[in-house]
Amino acid sequence: MKRLLTFSQELLDRAVELGRKYTRYGEVADYIPELKKQNFQNVALAVIQNGEALYAGEVDTPFSIQSIVKVILYALALENYTVDELKRNVGLKPSAKPFNSVIELELSKKNVPVNPFINAGAIVTVALLHEIYQEKTMGVILNYVSKFLGRDVTYSQDIFMSERVSSFANRTLTYLMLTKGILPKDLEVEEVLDVYFKSCSIMVTCKDLAHMSYVLSNKGVNPDGTRVIDEDIARVLRTLMATCGTYDYAGDFAVRVGIPAKSGVGGGIVTASLDGYGLAVYSPGLDSHGNSYSGVRMLEFLSRELGLNIY
Ligand code: GLU
Repeated sequence: MKRLLTFSQELLDRAVELGRKYTRYGEVADYIPELKKQNFQNVALAVIQNGEALYAGEVDTPFSIQSIVKVILYALALENYTVDELKRNVGLKPSAKPFNSVIELELSKKNVPVNPFINAGAIVTVALLHEIYQEKTMGVILNYVSKFLGRDVTYSQDIFMSERVSSFANRTLTYLMLTKGILPKDLEVEEVLDVYFKSCSIMVTCKDLAHMSYVLSNKGVNPDGTRVIDEDIARVLRTLMATCGTYDYAGDFAVRVGIPAKSGVGGGIVTASLDGYGLAVYSPGLDSHGNSYSGVRMLEFLSRELGLNIY
C-alpha cells in the first residue's frame, strides 16, 4: 500500500468521531478503584508531524500513564546496563498471558519475567533502578519521564494510594519473585513497590504521549532537535513495543494497526514507527486485554487511510 504519511485535521476529526462511536464497547479499568472515576466518553488523538502539532478530542484531559511508563523504566535501566546484562533479570519474549499473570512467571524457563512490559518485568526493572539510585529513585524517574514527555510531570497521589491498597496481584508477583530468588531476599519490598505504583500513577495527556511517540520514532530526538535517548536504546524500545507493547494482543495489533505501540490501562496508547511522526491516542474504555478499545480502532483507521502499517 502507498504510504502517504500526511495527517490532516480533517482525518483526525474523522478518527475521533469514529472513536466516539466505539466508547461504549470498552470498560474502564476498575481493579484500581481510582481509575473507575475516568469518563469513558473521553476520546483524544494527537500528532506531531514536520514540527507541527495536530489535535482532536480531549487532548488536554489528564490520565495516568500506567503501563506506558514501563517503556521509560526499561530505557532508564538501559542507561545503566546492556540488554544482555538485563536479560539475566528480565527477558525479551512476547507474552501470551495477561500482564499480571502468575502462571507466566511460574512457567518462565529461565525463571525471570518474560519481558519488561508485563508487571513482573517492570517490578524487576524498578528493583534494579532502586539498587542504583536508592532513595533518589522516584526523583530520577520523574526527571527522566519528563524528558520523554517534553514537560515536567508528577504522579497522582490519589491513584498511587489507590494502587497501593488494591494491588494484590503485584504483591503476589513480587513475593513469588522473592521466593524464587529472582528478586534479592534483602529487597526493600515496600519501597520498590511504591516506586512502581508511583511511576504508573504519573499523570499525562494525549499531547504528552505524542511527544514521547515523536522521540521514539525519531531515533531518540526531540521535536526541537535535542537528544533524549541514545539511538540504540530507542531501537530496542521500538522493537519491544512491536513484540510486547499491547499485552497478549500484540499479534492482533500488528495485523490490525501495524505500528509498534505501548498501551496502558489508563487508556493511552503511544506509537513508535520510524516514519518521523509522533502519534498517540487516548480513551479510557479498555478491551479484554487492557488496550484502549476506541484507541485501537482509531489507530486502525489511520493506519488504513494513510498506509502507516510498517510490515
Ligand atoms: N499499574 C498497573 C498495574 O500494575 C499497570 C498495568 C497496565 O497498565 O498494564 O496493574
